[in-house]
Amino acid sequence: MGTNETLEVQGAQGQRRALLKALLIITGVSGALFFVINTQRGLHLLATIELVTGAASMMLYVVVSRTRNLRVWTLVYLIPFLTIMMVAMYLPGTSPTVFLWVYIIPVISHLLLGLRLGFAVAVFFMLTAFAIFVIKHPRLLYEFHFASLANILISCAVALAFAYVYERGSEKARAGLMVIASTDPLTRLANLYRFRESFQQERHRAQRYDADLTLLVLDLDYFKKVNDTHGHAVGDQVLIHVANILRRRLRASDLVCRVGGEEFTVLLPDTGLEEAIKVADSLRRLIRDTPYRDQAVTVSLSCSIGVALWGRDGDTLEQLMETGDKRLYQAKQAGRDRVESGPVAG
Ligand code: GH3
Ligand code: MG
Ligand code: MG
Repeated sequence: MGTNETLEVQGAQGQRRALLKALLIITGVSGALFFVINTQRGLHLLATIELVTGAASMMLYVVVSRTRNLRVWTLVYLIPFLTIMMVAMYLPGTSPTVFLWVYIIPVISHLLLGLRLGFAVAVFFMLTAFAIFVIKHPRLLYEFHFASLANILISCAVALAFAYVYERGSEKARAGLMVIASTDPLTRLANLYRFRESFQQERHRAQRYDADLTLLVLDLDYFKKVNDTHGHAVGDQVLIHVANILRRRLRASDLVCRVGGEEFTVLLPDTGLEEAIKVADSLRRLIRDTPYRDQAVTVSLSCSIGVALWGRDGDTLEQLMETGDKRLYQAKQAGRDRVESGPVAG
């Protein structure tokens, strides 16, 4: 799994990579086939182009299977592929059925390049194909009945519109699914899945820039009592209330996650131990000083926090969570409503 890509891009990329690989196999095989056909028909220039295209497709297949720059390699393939299609349309002696490929252009370019770039590439090559058609068969324009010309234009427009609307729908659906897959439904905070992704990114960033990175593990004190006294529904509202406190207090670059139940984690990029302890303590005080209130009840809260420092306490998220959990347990043992951070250097 990539570390710099968002979940959304990964979802689209897997699909696009598979499509491009299928296309490369088809063009590889048909390149060889058309080489034979065109050689027999004496179209040697076209035959050579087909052969080179086929061989290049096979080489690209290997690259595309691994690359992290899928979009660049898609363009490396698609632009020559479509250009050759245009050349084939233009060259004398080619079958007029080569124009049938025009209908495939919007589908291929939208599926491989996404909404905007796909649309731009499709429109450019479809207009080019139409210009070639007019240059190559000027008589047809006069001799054709208007209805025939309208048929060509409208069917092309339908293919383009269909591909565009389809891609827009699937991009929206994909984005929606990614939000659902990475969000805690009760509090709308990140879930552990997204937290893990962000941690990987932040860890790489911290490594590259030699920056600090700290993790807080926060658990509400005696939360079972809240449920037992006021009911589960109020308990849920209290969790939303705490999530809002955390969200409001932290910076946009910090990430808060609901791990589960009444346990939260906070990732603090560019934050050393001393500063992290200050942040943790201010969160602790805020939660203690901001009880949950509605018309019927007031619920006083407190929390305990364990702090773990990337590098000192471990390298992976699992290691840091484990250390954070241990410190959290120490904080609970020591009486709750406190921050435990382990030995402070110096
Ligand atoms: P401690 O101070 O040791 O953390 O005590 P505690 O009562 O907070 O801890 P414990 O783990 O015993 O209880 C956690 C409770 O959180 C148990 C469960 O009923 C409640 N809980 C877990 N998830 C939810 C939830 O989604 N909504 C509500 N309302 N309660 C939840
Ligand atoms: Mg608890
Ligand atoms: Mg708990």
